[in-house]
Amino acid sequence: MMKRVYTSATPMMASFLHDVLENAGIRCILKNYFLSGGTGELPVNETWPELWVQEADETRALAVIRLTLEARTNAPDWTCPSCHERIEGQFQACWNCGYTAESA
Ligand SMILES: [Zn+2]
Repeated sequence: MMKRVYTSATPMMASFLHDVLENAGIRCILKNYFLSGGTGELPVNETWPELWVQEADETRALAVIRLTLEARTNAPDWTCPSCHERIEGQFQACWNCGYTAESA
């Protein structure tokens, strides 16, 4: 029995949390990841990426996700090194030019 533990309109975020859960030893499945950002022929909320885990891992997975999101929300603001835009700490990518810390 699988349980959905996360849904996001942001594929990058769902992918990030997938890696976080796997690193925590929780097997999880990322659904709809490749559909999102597609042609727009499907209703948007049906193509949002979803993270699913085994029911036995649900509580732990939700805790890991919550802690991860809290840590990101509490992150300090940063300045984009590419375009010098001020970015809120919860965002890892620059909304202005698309710069991400991971791609640097
Ligand atoms: Zn930028």
